[in-house]
Amino acid sequence: MDWFFWVIIGVIGVAIIIASIIITIDGRKQRELEAEDTPELEPTEVEPPVVAPEEVEPLGDEPVAVEPVPPVVEAEPEPAVVEPAVEEPEAPGSRWARLRRRLATSNNALARALGDLLSADKLDEEVWDDFEMTLISSDLGVGPTTELTEALRKELAIDGVADPAKAKQVLRRELLKLVDPSLDRSLNLTPAKDGDPAVVLVVGVNGTGKTTTVGKLARVLVAEGKTVTLGAADTFRAAAAEQLATWGERVGVETIRSHEGADPASVAFDAVAKGVDNGVDVVIVDTAGRLHTKTGLMDELGKVKRVIEKKAPVNEVLLVLDATTGQNGMTQARIFAEVVDVTGIVLTKLDGSAKGGIVIQVQRELGVPVKLVGLGEGVDDLAPFDPEGFVQGILGE
Ligand code: GDP
Ligand code: GDP
Ligand code: MG
Repeated sequence: MDWFFWVIIGVIGVAIIIASIIITIDGRKQRELEAEDTPELEPTEVEPPVVAPEEVEPLGDEPVAVEPVPPVVEAEPEPAVVEPAVEEPEAPGSRWARLRRRLATSNNALARALGDLLSADKLDEEVWDDFEMTLISSDLGVGPTTELTEALRKELAIDGVADPAKAKQVLRRELLKLVDPSLDRSLNLTPAKDGDPAVVLVVGVNGTGKTTTVGKLARVLVAEGKTVTLGAADTFRAAAAEQLATWGERVGVETIRSHEGADPASVAFDAVAKGVDNGVDVVIVDTAGRLHTKTGLMDELGKVKRVIEKKAPVNEVLLVLDATTGQNGMTQARIFAEVVDVTGIVLTKLDGSAKGGIVIQVQRELGVPVKLVGLGEGVDDLAPFDPEGFVQGILGE
């Protein structure tokens, strides 16, 4: 019986050694394929074989023909290398409900103005002046501030707010009017020609959240069952393409990229060409925003768009704006709007902004709707902009 025991031990030992060799080779391959900047996906270090060498030694004396194979299967360790599984992004429908709460706490300048007004004993000049000041400080803009104040002054009695519920209703109605629920905020993703991809060009100043938005948007589209290709036309830094490719990989989306310093127009062209060849639904092109002169910006973005359109028309030009940058952001927005035909605005970092008024001001100035909002650093923290939800969020409803 003793020999039988040693045979089993021997077979287990050999199996473990073979398994660890396979895992080591696999792991190495995996690491070669995987981007270095995704530490969370880095394969776990390969465990050393569990069986000590002395235990394996006796095998040498044993006959090789061994019958009882089944225990080997049990001895096989769990593979240490975890394939980075393709994630399933959150469906767009449930996002707004989840993210709306972040607005209520973030848009506090607007909310504070409204709250102060509702709780004032007497609505005299001083109260209205304070109201206007607070609205201005929420980045609402002078025009919308004046309109809102005038509309409210007409409807609310001088002797304070007698019926707060009714007053709130007036506020809700007037705010909604400013946000303008009649604007078409859907992304136009209908290709000009059957079989062509829809092309989305994403522009904006460095650091506003362009790459993050492209990544999040890819997830939204994948969740809707669309096929997507990404173009890394920010060729200023190699890391930018890497960052984008990582977003893509997580949802099984291909990223077309080139070397650092490559011509952005050429990368954009290649991405769209690939999208056409593969018959994908949408190609999203990320761009650089580090151009310091307006002429440089105009030349580069103009060229990117022109070269893409040799292959397929651009459906959407989304301007990404950081909601926390206030009037600086507005200045950037004006410059970009002069350079390219912006078709939609993505307001990012609305979760960290105390000034939700920018939603209204930027739409008003550019004449372009806010289509998407970024409400956090989570991978699915991007939602289609919903005017009713936004106003309810501000009013803390
Ligand atoms: P890019 O230079 O325009 O491509 O900007 P990135 O996409 O690299 O984003 C810059 C930073 O902003 C990153 O740290 C993002 O995580 C962060 N960011 C982007 N969108 C949001 C958002 O909606 N909320 C918050 N809190 N952070 C965001
Ligand atoms: P312009 O001369 O600057 O107005 O623009 P062009 O249309 O001549 O394109 C200039 C650059 O865009 C080229 O150097 C390429 O890098 C890129 N480009 C234009 N057409 C193509 C194309 O068909 N394929 C690829 N890969 N890149 C192109
Ligand atoms: Mg970027």
